[in-house]
Amino acid sequence: MNKTILITGGAGFIGANFIVHFLAENPDYFVVNLDLLTYAGTLDNLTEIENNPNYKFVKGDICDRAFLQELFREYDFKGVIHFAAESHVDNSISGPEAFIKTNVLGTFNLLETARQHWMDAPNKYRAGYEGCRFHHISTDEVYGTLGETGLFTEQTPYAPNSPYSASKASSDMVVRSYFHTYGMNVVTTNCSNNYGPKQHQEKLIPTIIRKAVSGENIPIYGDGKNIRDWLYVLDHCTGIELAYKKGRAGETYNIGGRNERNNLYIANKICELLDTMYPKTEGSYKDQITFVTDRPGHDLRYAIDADKIENELGWEANENFETGIVKTIEWYLQKLTK
Ligand code: NAD
Repeated sequence: MNKTILITGGAGFIGANFIVHFLAENPDYFVVNLDLLTYAGTLDNLTEIENNPNYKFVKGDICDRAFLQELFREYDFKGVIHFAAESHVDNSISGPEAFIKTNVLGTFNLLETARQHWMDAPNKYRAGYEGCRFHHISTDEVYGTLGETGLFTEQTPYAPNSPYSASKASSDMVVRSYFHTYGMNVVTTNCSNNYGPKQHQEKLIPTIIRKAVSGENIPIYGDGKNIRDWLYVLDHCTGIELAYKKGRAGETYNIGGRNERNNLYIANKICELLDTMYPKTEGSYKDQITFVTDRPGHDLRYAIDADKIENELGWEANENFETGIVKTIEWYLQKLTK
């Protein structure tokens, strides 16, 4: 069976971790990685597989339909796993347009190209298109914010609060409609905050580590009490692989690590670990923690109920925050100090 699949956004944080994991586990697949290499993507994230014969990198834009159509004709993909997105909430506040363009229109372009290739073409695949899966990677931020209790389930109504989450919510809806309208074999996963190796330096955990090691102030929004449900990126990758292969068409699956921690705890924990893993000559890294003006519309708490993917697909997270963060710090220290 031809198992050529398209992965978009594979030079970014989660996509790169996923491709390396997926190729190691699935030597019978051929993966084409389509990425625009925006500021957020780098081929340095993929050095482990650059000579893998089952892997090909293509630079291109998911907003360019003609280019996508040509790519589908050339490779005749039998599946898509779609990571490419503008992903940083702060950037969506200062410049929302790119988020609508890439996350909404880009996702639509990709879906429509896949639909035409798999379903509309006067072709061979129509009868067998169920084998052709479109897997959309999304976020728990589409559900808005939680109070002090409760968890996001797949039934939680969408209530996005930032331009980023609104753009992801919109793309989720377009993906959903392609199942209900066209019967396309789609699946969506909504995951909580990821952390681990290869994350862009703009995000919270890499920022804390980098600022600590360089002796700068470690900025924490507001009072640091905002809670996220942290998911180690390789646990996310195993969840995606399961949902891609075994998830039911038209369904959504929440992926979360059951690791709710507030931002101040995260900063303190990282400083505490750095104090032993990379000691300062004097004092603790905790002395560098500084509170800064809160992000507008900052959601208080996200927490995921992962029952569905655990019970239906047998997924479970291997890492809790305290084990995953040690691996993460080790990776960044090696990068920052070499
Ligand atoms: P990232 O910003 O690290 O990577 C995004 C990648 O997409 C980059 O390599 C970038 O070059 C590429 N890209 C951007 N615009 C493109 C375009 N027009 N055409 C082709 N490629 C383009 O993001 P990430 O953290 O790896 O997130 C991946 C996906 O997971 C996103 O869809 C994001 O919404 C979702 N997600 C991320 C998290 C998280 O904690 N990081 C949590 C939930 C969901």
